[in-house]
Amino acid sequence: MDDQHYEIAVIGAGPAGMTAAMYAARALKRTALFEAKVPGGELLNTELIEDYPGFESITGAELAQRMADHSLRFGAELVSARVTRIVPLAGGGHRIEVEEGPPYSADAVIITAGGEPRKLEVPGELAYAGRGVSYCAICDGAFFRGEHLAVVGGGDAALEEAVFLTRYASKVTVVHRREQFRAQPVVVARARANPKLGFALNRVVEEVQGDGQRVTALRLRDVGTGAEEPLAVGGVFIFIGFLPNTGLVAAHVDHDAQGYYRTDEVMQTSVAGIFAAGDVRAQLTRQVTTAVGDATTAAVAATKYVEEERAPRAAAG
Ligand code: NAP
Repeated sequence: MDDQHYEIAVIGAGPAGMTAAMYAARALKRTALFEAKVPGGELLNTELIEDYPGFESITGAELAQRMADHSLRFGAELVSARVTRIVPLAGGGHRIEVEEGPPYSADAVIITAGGEPRKLEVPGELAYAGRGVSYCAICDGAFFRGEHLAVVGGGDAALEEAVFLTRYASKVTVVHRREQFRAQPVVVARARANPKLGFALNRVVEEVQGDGQRVTALRLRDVGTGAEEPLAVGGVFIFIGFLPNTGLVAAHVDHDAQGYYRTDEVMQTSVAGIFAAGDVRAQLTRQVTTAVGDATTAAVAATKYVEEERAPRAAAG
């Protein structure tokens, strides 16, 4: 058998990918789980998970480790490589190109590649990235002990991470462009109850300012009046959503206006044999629970696809 060929290739080892690999291998399909970094995905950027059934409270790192161990238990192979392109082949199947080394191939592909943090795209953001501008509270929060921090965004991630940052910061100001929050009410209530948290609502960041070395302030604009004001901070954490990693397939894949893949009810994309689950998929909410649920469906459907569509074709020559 060709060493580089798998029946099912799973692209990205976050919760969705780890689940898909577990199910595909347990169905006795030769399965590869491709991951460029360490398995865990967004779990590794999350301090505490309190809404994954069976685990009242577990750190993101621990859940990631447990899922990673479990995902490989039934024989899936972890391939440490960055996938650069997925090319659907004329006779069926897919070529999977990686950054270094020869390409792989697979009968079915499950894309669980997650996303990248969305950027504010204002002056100073990139210049001060890693010098006061951060997209990961768990990774960088401890560098800001005793400082006044800003968090930008009004979703679950912004408010949860703002609360997390209060353990290090003297004060955290949440800057949000509206009055209402997109975050769940329970998350908003927890943030509002935190005495170290303040809010700058109806404000957008116009510029990240610094002294050449580090961030010193944000220039904020009042959305209603247009008035500008500085907010002196030692750092800014930006949580304004994700851009899905949906640019890998060398063919048109149906997607929504934000670039998330549209799938059918078994998680198949508009390209036969390519399935999607987790943060790359258009859906109502992006939770660990929905990621693992949809990945289960994707793996079962990919298994059926391999057995019913690909194997008969291959046998026919
Ligand atoms: P999100 O829910 O899409 O929220 C993004 C926030 O950023 C929104 O408040 C949005 O403002 C704001 N925003 C977007 N672009 C902006 C810009 N250019 N300038 C200023 N503000 C901007 O993203 P998220 O918080 O990362 O969450 C992503 C998904 O993960 C969600 O489905 C969320 O429920 C889930 N999640 C869940 C949990 C949990 O359940 N514990 C934790 C983290 C994340 P508007 O509201 O005005 O659009």
